[in-house]
Amino acid sequence: MHGRGIDSFDAMTNLPKELRAQLAERFTLAFPQVVERTAPAADGSQKYLFLLRDGNRIEAVYMPMGDRTSVCLSSQAGCAVGCTFCVTGFFGAGRNLTPGEMLGQFFTIQHEHAVPMEMMNVVFMGMGEPLLNFEYLVTTLDVLYRNLAPKRITISTSGIIPAIDDLAKLERRPNLAVSINAPDRRRREEIMPITKKYPLQELMAALRRYPTERGREITIEYVLLAGYNDAPSDAVALAKLLQGLRAKVNAIPFNADPNLPPWMQRPTDAAIDRFVDTLVRNGVAVTVRRSKGREIAAACGQLRGKSEAPKRRRTG
Ligand code: SAH
Ligand code: SF4
Repeated sequence: MHGRGIDSFDAMTNLPKELRAQLAERFTLAFPQVVERTAPAADGSQKYLFLLRDGNRIEAVYMPMGDRTSVCLSSQAGCAVGCTFCVTGFFGAGRNLTPGEMLGQFFTIQHEHAVPMEMMNVVFMGMGEPLLNFEYLVTTLDVLYRNLAPKRITISTSGIIPAIDDLAKLERRPNLAVSINAPDRRRREEIMPITKKYPLQELMAALRRYPTERGREITIEYVLLAGYNDAPSDAVALAKLLQGLRAKVNAIPFNADPNLPPWMQRPTDAAIDRFVDTLVRNGVAVTVRRSKGREIAAACGQLRGKSEAPKRRRTG
């Protein structure tokens, strides 16, 4: 089913007809329904909006990048973590996606673009907090591992410390990306309230004891907000925070949205450059997400948000 991209028992022509009929009677095979796909961005990226059987809507992103292709998957139909700069967080909690729903996003996009499996990479950076859906995530990874090496899969977390420790115990681990987003505890608490439950220093300690594989490093995601966390002094503070950690920074210029506080803005290119240069001068490897297409991935939840009435209001 996964290898050949089959979506009905009838198409399983290598099974006896009788068995196919019995399977169809007792089970359902259904990929999530694509209700919208954006036109390809300049770099070819396309965002998908899927409708699930219970009416929930989730997003995934197709990102061709030359000799490899990444898909960005959602892990939950919302997010309870409630980061103040995130549209998914703005709309609030949503249920865990099942392995079938996570794999459904992956296989739908892979088949639609006929991407050879050996070119595929997966990032769990869409809607939701993958480490708050740990059990289903592990099942999903186990299925993906049949086609993809663990190092071609990345999960991004807001820093659920006990789950990071659980991840550390897995025999085969995906790459780890952690959304740090602020150079100190005060500001992280402000934009990522989960910091009150899982303090920044304890999170850094969890990353220091995490068994990062040889040749790999932890990705530190850092959303750049103009005038808030983008000063060269913030870059110096971030570099200090990361001292002794095998890590690289992925700087993500903030993606504005009508549902988010108006004071939150994307820094100018000059400010982004200054921030990045300061990190580099302080010995930190860094990549920046600059193209529009890549940014649609950084802002999962925004497509769904366009046509949805907010469940709660946010002030500030
Ligand atoms: N819940 C996980 C994975 C999904 S969010 C996590 O938080 O890591 C994926 C990334 O998108 C995170 O690094 C987050 O900081 C970033 N992000 C969320 N909203 C954004 C926005 N409006 N602009 C830019 N990046 C955003
Ligand atoms: Fe949830 Fe990640 Fe958005 Fe925070 S940034 S609200 S953890 S999806």
